[in-house]
Amino acid sequence: MNTQSPLSTDHEALMPDRRLYIGGQWVEGPSEFQVMNPANGRPVASVSHATSAEALAALDAAAAAQPGWAKLAPRARANLMHKAYRLMMEREEAFTKVMTLESGKPLTESRAEFLLSADFLLWFAEQSAHIHGSYSDSSSGDFRVVVKHQPIGPCLLITPWNFPLLMIVRKAGAALAAGCTTITKTAQETPLTGALFVEVLHDAGFPAGVVNLLHTTKSSGVSEPLLKDKRLRKVSFTGSTGVGGLLMEQGARNILNASMELGGDGPFIVLDDADIDLAAEQAIICKFRNAGQACVAANRIIVDRRVEAAFTEKFVAKVKALKVGDGMGAVDVGPMISARQRDRLGETLKQLTDAGGQLLAGGKPVAGEGYFFEPTVVRFEGRNEVMCSNELFAPIAAIFSVDGPEAALAFANESDFGLASYVFTRDLSRALTFGERLEFGMVGINRGIMADPKAPFGGTKASGIGREAGQEGIYEFMEQKYMAVTVN
Ligand code: NAD
Repeated sequence: MNTQSPLSTDHEALMPDRRLYIGGQWVEGPSEFQVMNPANGRPVASVSHATSAEALAALDAAAAAQPGWAKLAPRARANLMHKAYRLMMEREEAFTKVMTLESGKPLTESRAEFLLSADFLLWFAEQSAHIHGSYSDSSSGDFRVVVKHQPIGPCLLITPWNFPLLMIVRKAGAALAAGCTTITKTAQETPLTGALFVEVLHDAGFPAGVVNLLHTTKSSGVSEPLLKDKRLRKVSFTGSTGVGGLLMEQGARNILNASMELGGDGPFIVLDDADIDLAAEQAIICKFRNAGQACVAANRIIVDRRVEAAFTEKFVAKVKALKVGDGMGAVDVGPMISARQRDRLGETLKQLTDAGGQLLAGGKPVAGEGYFFEPTVVRFEGRNEVMCSNELFAPIAAIFSVDGPEAALAFANESDFGLASYVFTRDLSRALTFGERLEFGMVGINRGIMADPKAPFGGTKASGIGREAGQEGIYEFMEQKYMAVTVN
């Protein structure tokens, strides 16, 4: 480890290397920046800062390693990934504590994210030996149609801070399984968790150049030169819709392949025949996980008027019981990622109450150190456009009382976004009808959490392009090669 950490010695032993990882080596960047703990505003560690020079060095390494990695037997790739999985499972304490220190999320959530991420890695390891192709007759019958999937080439993976491990594993696992080399750019708020994962890959023995890691506070200084370089064949991005659009523009000249996981405005619909206890319990998880800073969070809780009072009473009681505090302790809700994110919430709440929202719980920042905000509930009578395409990304729940299922469905679909949606009902036919008519990439039926390695994760409209995880997630990193074969 090169850089000095102001962190107490307790956690120092858990820290990853804080340099950049290029061509199989940990290398110093030209400067450093500090990672802060959002629970107390104090520095956690200093990490190396990459510029365009390090970005291009990473691409040199990724491009040089690409042919060898693509040619490696699928079983050999799978073996390396299995080894990485085993090493990852030995380092649970480091992953969970470091994730909590830099992201603020409660340890229970860090542990859940760690276990799910490991499961993703294992699943990608298993799938890497199962890439399929096809061999069939042409429609004229006089030649054969052979289709083979081939790795697309070096990929840039840009990840956000809110799920600092899962977002990297979901991209890198799929890319590596497909036979692509990777350059991961971490979010400046959470580089350490990404570094722990890359350490695992290094220790597992991935060949030099297959995995590269960059940290920076000036993301465009790193991504722009890469997006302009024809050797880069794909960008896979998770983050805001604005930045996703910008990256697509920057890659457009090179017709760069892009997968985009962007913002969300998740409707959480509770119909009049729903199990209200289950709906209230799942709404709490879906809304307050990660202090509401999740793209799949319940952004608009839309409840049939006939059960709204019963739902709201249970939901508000649960919200008032949530324990807020430093994620290292036994708490339910941690801090916002930064003072800036917390400070914007006063204005957000004013916007909601000016639009007719009634404050039922919370509503203020928590006094003292750290960037905490009280779990908050605002209730609206009927639909309200203030919350259409307005991603709160905060521990603020908005409940809407609406007249019946058609009104609920219409309000749910009034959004530019189309990522996650949820419906609670005891009627299977109604559930499936909603599932088909909701204009969203994912529908949780009687559940508020959906991520699974087997399931294609992604959105429609302004929520993005492409899918992550599932077999589909691996093929995002592959191109189809068609061969026409004359057979005598
Ligand atoms: P963000 O777009 O600001 O940042 C995401 C990543 O992009 C970070 O690594 C950041 O450093 C980088 N970045 C920022 N500006 C850049 C630029 N000009 N050029 C290159 N890279 C740049 O988003 P955020 O605030 O970190 O995350 C919140 C957003 O991400 C929300 O809208 C949320 O819904 C979305 N999100 C989506 C998913 C999903 O799977 N769909 C998952 C998590 C978060």
